[in-house]
Amino acid sequence: MDPLKALADAERKPYWLDSPAKPEPLPRLFGNTTADLAVVGGGFSGLWTALMAKERDPSLDVVLLEGRRIGWAASGRNGGFAMATLTHGIANGLERWPEEISTLERLGVTNLDEIGEAVARYDIDCGYERTGELHVATEPWQLEAMSEHAEITHELGVRFDILDQEQIRAEVNSPTYIGGQWERDGCAMLDPARLAWGLRQACLSLGVRIYERTPVRAMKDSQVSMDLLTPNGTVKAGKVALGTGVFQPLLRRLKHFLVPVYDYALMTEPLSAEQMDAVGWHNRQGVGDSANQFHYYRLTDDNRILWGGYDAVYYNGGKIKPEYEQRDETFVKLAEHFSVTFPQLSELRFTHKWGGVIDTCSRFSAFYGQAHGGRLAYAAGYTGMGVGATRFGANVMLDLLSGERTERTELRMVQEKPVPFPPEPVRSAGIQMTRWSIAQADLHQGRRNLWLRTLDRMGLGFDS
Ligand SMILES: Cc1cc2nc3c(=O)[nH]c(=O)nc-3n(C[C@H](O)[C@H](O)[C@H](O)COP(=O)(O)OP(=O)(O)OC[C@H]3O[C@@H](n4cnc5c(N)ncnc54)[C@H](O)[C@@H]3O)c2cc1C
Repeated sequence: MDPLKALADAERKPYWLDSPAKPEPLPRLFGNTTADLAVVGGGFSGLWTALMAKERDPSLDVVLLEGRRIGWAASGRNGGFAMATLTHGIANGLERWPEEISTLERLGVTNLDEIGEAVARYDIDCGYERTGELHVATEPWQLEAMSEHAEITHELGVRFDILDQEQIRAEVNSPTYIGGQWERDGCAMLDPARLAWGLRQACLSLGVRIYERTPVRAMKDSQVSMDLLTPNGTVKAGKVALGTGVFQPLLRRLKHFLVPVYDYALMTEPLSAEQMDAVGWHNRQGVGDSANQFHYYRLTDDNRILWGGYDAVYYNGGKIKPEYEQRDETFVKLAEHFSVTFPQLSELRFTHKWGGVIDTCSRFSAFYGQAHGGRLAYAAGYTGMGVGATRFGANVMLDLLSGERTERTELRMVQEKPVPFPPEPVRSAGIQMTRWSIAQADLHQGRRNLWLRTLDRMGLGFDS
């Protein structure tokens, strides 16, 4: 089917948030209150922080303030790949923290195990399936890059199978695949909005007070408490954890490290039994292709296909605007790529098209820190891989606020900050040059031009 026709009836909203499971909003904060810990942000970062603060100490008085609705932002509109990696993939981690990578891999797998345990413990109905991820190659240079890393990855104990063309097409049937790897334990598939709503319920069940539609407009350090000012009331808190993602930071220094990058996705209608037969996909893995500009795709529990990625768009000036959540040019491109990957699904239509904003930092993986004499902690910069890693970041924030030295707080990855982005307009020019260079690398067997090699040497990068 012509991509325009396949997209014609698609609704302009995130599929996951368009669900009957969406709960009614919790009340706004009216009046003044106090808390031992105030968490700002109701995405995965904030929700895990509030939940685990109560798990660590049930007597703690915890308040969570969300400016809009729980899970409305990246957390409720992503691909739903909960990855074990804490470093945006093993290659990025190996390059930046080689001496820590085996610890980081172990901590990441434990974190993902514990997400599965929490989902079961709180009975969260979010379609959690620990199916792993297929990394598929569509060009020979991608296979070569995979085999370069295979040995070291294997030594680090990552369980994966190398699949040749026939084997990978037996998993998921696409004429574009020439080989790949199945990383067995590294990833779970889930419905991200239902996870966010389930965590909200779990927080409430432990006594967290959640206020929705309550943006924190300013923060004041009165020495006795941290005061969070909202439109209709103030929270005086002993400690504060910021899980505010890429949005206007309450702590000014964060703005040097984060840029908003838009990522887009489509959702198909459910596949019929014949269409499922035509693609196979019996093991229901998440799939990612291996170019620099990559697609990610997966099945939902009612056998739709979510198809996203490829374009990672930075709008010059670095603003966050609702209109950026829709980009027809990208939707058409994604629909065209879908039909090349799955020609046997040519009759399938898309029901939803949407975008969302990612908190990109120059090292592609989250950074952590403290301010206000240790009474405030933050974690941000997940760069498109925060579904799993935000829970680790939440634990880091709680460790930092407790003043304890833990295995997590002693990591170089936790103690170091990314290289800051330059100010505008150099920032926009540099990012657009990098996006162009990345696209060129994909056209030239992955070869990185002088610009990308220079950035690599500086530890500065751009990704989604
Ligand atoms: C299209 C798309 C696909 C993605 N796919 C994947 C994937 O498959 N796997 C993966 O691992 N990651 C993926 N990601 C990234 C992942 O969604 C994020 O890393 C993760 O959700 C970040 O969670 P967060 O809580 O830090 O931020 P957010 O979800 O952005 O939440 C931040 C919250 O803070 C609130 N807030 C901000 N400032 C204030 C304030 N002053 N007062 C009150 N509230 C405030 C916001 O309203 C928001 O709700 C994807 C992202 C997008 C956009």
